[in-house]
Amino acid sequence: MSEEFGLFIGGKWESPAGAKRFVTRSPSTGEELGSFVAATAADATRAIETAHKAFESWRRTPAPKRGQILLRAAEVFKARKDELGSFVTKEMGKILPEGKGDVQEAIDFVEYMSAEGRRLLGETVPSELRNKYCFTLRQPKGVVAAITPWNFPVAIPNWKIAAALITGNTVVFKPATNTSRCAVELTRVYEEAGLPPGVLNLITGSGSVVGKELTTHPLVRAVSFTGGTDTGRGIYTEAAKALKYVHLEMGGKNPQIVMEDANLDLAVDGLLFGAYGSSGQRCTATSRLLLHKNVYDEFLARFLKRLAKFRVGDPLKEGTDMGPVSSADQEKKILEYIEIGKKEGAKLLYGGKKLTGGLYDKGFFIEPTLFEARHGMRITKEEIFGPVLSVIKISDFDEAVKVANDVEYGLSSSIYTRDVNRSFQAMERLEAGITYINAPTIGAEVQLPFGGIKNTGNGGREAGTVAIEEFTEIKTVFVDFSDRLQKAQIES
Ligand code: NDP
Repeated sequence: MSEEFGLFIGGKWESPAGAKRFVTRSPSTGEELGSFVAATAADATRAIETAHKAFESWRRTPAPKRGQILLRAAEVFKARKDELGSFVTKEMGKILPEGKGDVQEAIDFVEYMSAEGRRLLGETVPSELRNKYCFTLRQPKGVVAAITPWNFPVAIPNWKIAAALITGNTVVFKPATNTSRCAVELTRVYEEAGLPPGVLNLITGSGSVVGKELTTHPLVRAVSFTGGTDTGRGIYTEAAKALKYVHLEMGGKNPQIVMEDANLDLAVDGLLFGAYGSSGQRCTATSRLLLHKNVYDEFLARFLKRLAKFRVGDPLKEGTDMGPVSSADQEKKILEYIEIGKKEGAKLLYGGKKLTGGLYDKGFFIEPTLFEARHGMRITKEEIFGPVLSVIKISDFDEAVKVANDVEYGLSSSIYTRDVNRSFQAMERLEAGITYINAPTIGAEVQLPFGGIKNTGNGGREAGTVAIEEFTEIKTVFVDFSDRLQKAQIES
């Protein structure tokens, strides 16, 4: 029997009588990781109303004091890093160093946001009139719905929760169903850190059941979503009818360009990590290699040599390079794309199969896969979200940029070259929210904005100081100390 967990509403863990439950399982062993309440729309309403009740007092808590609670949360995350990292690995399948990295990213961000409590900068600007001050304040929006995916089950929720909390919002957190254990554990961290009741509320269960409530309820003032483009589009459309502020972070089809003057070994290292880290299930994962014709054969020879030594297996075991994909649905979708690639005439250079036998039979293991493809094939344009990479031969830099940009997404991009002019041209011309020079497409740091253009997002960014903008309204204040009516634009 799995351990049972409730919803966290108003500072209490509760299991509504007769509630439906579901379990999450390790994608490598099938082990159950907990039993969770499948929240209903009524539970979502209760969580939203509770968050709304807690809002007034939380917004009036001085921001540096809110920061102290976040700092305590960062300390608890640190103390529990190994344990939480292993939950990440067990529940979604990324290898243990990456599981711990997921938690470390949360620690970094929560710590960073805690200090923002002493800034929350506004602007002070001169008035066109005498004896008058003009400045801006940042104020919380109210109740925020944070809807998150399974691929970074600790880091991504914290990007939203910590930024929302430091700015004085209260939160209803709806994690991906299949990483509910990670969500429970991270909520416990905030509870242990002393967050007042109702400020952070957790509802587990299906997005399709509680989604509408979270995106249209009158008391929800902002929705912060990370996940697939179709889901995001649906949320955006629903929430727009209710005039909600919505921030979306969605898919990617991220290219790594390797030019003829690149340090090839460095580019090979970067590609292995970028394409197959977390089994290719990062939104910034490299899914296209745009390889210059002059180094095409040499680069692929070196890459394939390294791939032959790549170990797929138990993600908890030291020395494993890649674990399973995160679920049966993911496995099915990825294997379908591999078939699509073959049918389209892409040449399979490596992998392409589900792994079977021994441990593999208990989980969802797929070989790291490399296709030689032509730009325009579906596998070069659609997000696969798995360990499937397509290599496309390019003749020059202009062609690389053209191919890189000819997809619907624009999240991350990378170029390996020693030519400084080309590096800067790439920074200017690649249509993506993030460009790496001589580094893989993955590797976000929390003090910098994160997000994409085109169908990856809707204009906002997470992390960095911009995260503050996502969760605040700007109040413009005029203070007139002239003791008479002054008329802007009319008096000279
Ligand atoms: P989904 O879009 O399926 O789910 C994301 C979240 O939305 C989950 O919590 C899900 O709940 C919830 N949800 C589903 N339907 C609704 C609905 N109708 N209303 C409200 N919420 C809903 O994505 P995945 O979890 O499968 O994540 C993978 C996708 O996320 C990939 O396509 C990837 O590119 C993208 N992604 C983007 C990132 C970025 O920063 N750009 C980062 C990480 C992932 P439930 O689990 O219950 O279905």
